[in-house]
Amino acid sequence: MDAVSLQQLRSWVDRISVPRHALLQAEANRAFARWLVEQFEAWGYAVQLQGIYGNVVALPRNMASEIVLVGAHYDSVPQSPGADDNGSAVAAMLGCAEVIAKFASQTPVGFVAFNCEEDGMVGSADFVDSYLSRAEFTVGAVHILEMVGFASSKPGSQRLPTGLPIQIPDRGDFLGLLANKKSGVLMDSILSEAKGCLPKFPVVGLEVVVGAEKLFPVLARSDHLPFWNCNIPTVMWTDTSEFRNPHYHQKTDTPETLDYDFLRHVTQLLVATVAR
Ligand SMILES: [Zn+2]
Repeated sequence: MDAVSLQQLRSWVDRISVPRHALLQAEANRAFARWLVEQFEAWGYAVQLQGIYGNVVALPRNMASEIVLVGAHYDSVPQSPGADDNGSAVAAMLGCAEVIAKFASQTPVGFVAFNCEEDGMVGSADFVDSYLSRAEFTVGAVHILEMVGFASSKPGSQRLPTGLPIQIPDRGDFLGLLANKKSGVLMDSILSEAKGCLPKFPVVGLEVVVGAEKLFPVLARSDHLPFWNCNIPTVMWTDTSEFRNPHYHQKTDTPETLDYDFLRHVTQLLVATVAR
């Protein structure tokens, strides 16, 4: 966990943060996918550009019959550099991939950078439908990272989606985890990992009741949904998006607005969880 470098995370976020919508900034989008391929290959993963949308899939060289997946979308909306959305998550994923490759390369974990999340999650849906359904391995657990770099300790900095019948802290300095019934046990394991290895880092878990994501679309807005639809245990990790970050989908979603201690803690928790 000490090997997770704050400077490295910052430099990845800096590199990612140009508008890179899949269609409207196709050149930047594809260039970034190629760069991701090179990064994962340099760490020894077996990498491919998967499917019609160009997901980047990096699998361990020593494949197991069942693996864990970490996923994050790499595209942005056209009008935004997307530092938090979703550069922060790609940086956390890269940080995890690098540390696992260097210190625990036997870990059966793969990484997927999805394209086109901002166009209705069609990249992750294609990955689940056309790739996973035919894969020679099964997936025991999935961690989807969706905006994990913005934090604030100011009172009132955290808002709650309208109508959601839960209570959350009013300071936006915690990592949020979202699970369904199928992934409740997985979420509990992340929460206990956090207590053990990062006792001062606040993590709040929410397990939604069956079907709640249909009543509250805000719970179904990221790449975890195609996995939930296929009954694969999947937890989404998030800073809660526009309910905390005022720069959501704006020109101002830039690297200097992020909290890199927070992003490092998220990355460390991801490393510990995956390694365990
Ligand atoms: Zn977004």
